[in-house]
Amino acid sequence: MSDKVPMLPDKHLDSAKIIIKENRSKTQCKTCYDRGFIGTNQDNMIVPCNKCVEVEAVMIRWRKYVREDEELTALYGDYFEEDEDEQGSE
Ligand SMILES: [Zn+2]
Repeated sequence: MSDKVPMLPDKHLDSAKIIIKENRSKTQCKTCYDRGFIGTNQDNMIVPCNKCVEVEAVMIRWRKYVREDEELTALYGDYFEEDEDEQGSE
């Protein structure tokens, strides 16, 4: 098991921004200057603004996006999937 998270390829940043835009709960925000995001983190992933963006909804959409993109699925596997306790049946 490795803790290293791959860098997000730049070409997916625009999609991430679109997802964030779709999930903004208000249109005026001084924290992010109405961008909906604060910047990118060390993994080149966009950090949504939690003042004006439904971060939870963004994560749900983002997981779906990753699942539907072969390259991202190969890169991240189930990294974005929630740790659900699915093995509790036995
Ligand atoms: Zn904001």
